[in-house]
Amino acid sequence: FQRMRDGLARSSRELTGNIAGVFTKRKLDEETLQDLEDVLIRADLGMETALRVTDALAASRYGKDVSDTEVRAIMAAEVEKVLSHVAMPLELDLSHKPHVILVVGVNGTGKTTTIGKLAAKLTDGGLSVMLAAGDTFRAAAIEQLKIWGERTKSPVIASKLGADAAGLAYDAFEKAKEAGSDVLIIDTAGRLQNKTELMAELEKIVRVLGKLDPEAPHTVLQTVDATTGQNALNQVEIFRNVAGVNGLVMTKLDGTARGGILVAIAAKHKLPVYFIGVGEQVDDLEPFSASEFARAIAG
Ligand code: GDP
Repeated sequence: FQRMRDGLARSSRELTGNIAGVFTKRKLDEETLQDLEDVLIRADLGMETALRVTDALAASRYGKDVSDTEVRAIMAAEVEKVLSHVAMPLELDLSHKPHVILVVGVNGTGKTTTIGKLAAKLTDGGLSVMLAAGDTFRAAAIEQLKIWGERTKSPVIASKLGADAAGLAYDAFEKAKEAGSDVLIIDTAGRLQNKTELMAELEKIVRVLGKLDPEAPHTVLQTVDATTGQNALNQVEIFRNVAGVNGLVMTKLDGTARGGILVAIAAKHKLPVYFIGVGEQVDDLEPFSASEFARAIAG
């Protein structure tokens, strides 16, 4: 978890510095609680979690002297509670052959990279994986996926630039069934600039996959860039509505992550967070641990 800790170091330093600032006066009263709430909201944790922390603190320490260390311990405990409901491993139902994972998210949030890392994990675990280059708009995305396919020895189904993404997804699903693949992972486009078109495309992909297996796609995974800040909440809202997202991967937690947003997303959307991305390399995909994350952010 070292890379996540390093990545969160800056937002954690800022947050803990601000908490220390609030508690120079030390006594816990309305004013210090209000100031603490502001600090937590500025750190992107969201209103719900901010209130949980201040309520928990007030319940045990109101009117008493309190140190920033105590405040941080209570914050870590509350953050961990929020996150413990969403930290869970990705489970594949291999009675479906293949288990279809549709990967969605705004361009640049790490879809293709996450697919590569995930394919590596699965193939290392002895599963056969097929990849589908459903972002038919960007030549670079198709090329990148092919490279990941070579590295993980997973066949890649791709079409010409600009081809119909739903048609490609359907084709890939048929091929994966024929080949007896355990898992099919489908990349998609994420052009939020043209929302109507994107929605129509994602809806169509989901619909045509359902023709071959009413339960497909079995997992709809959204990548969320942890450096995005508040806008990430809206991104999840949008893709959840359009594509039925049922799990998240939080990427770039190694960078200048505003880690608090993960907590706000967990509190609001309550979607499982299966993995976190902590770098650009193949091994930089880790299971999400509520306690480790809470400790990293609370400093
Ligand atoms: P896509 O457009 O959603 O498919 O995003 P890409 O997979 O192409 O990723 C966009 C950029 O983010 C690339 O330069 C990736 O190497 C980088 N990236 C993806 N995941 C991570 C991560 O967890 N950490 C860091 N530091 N960079 C990442």
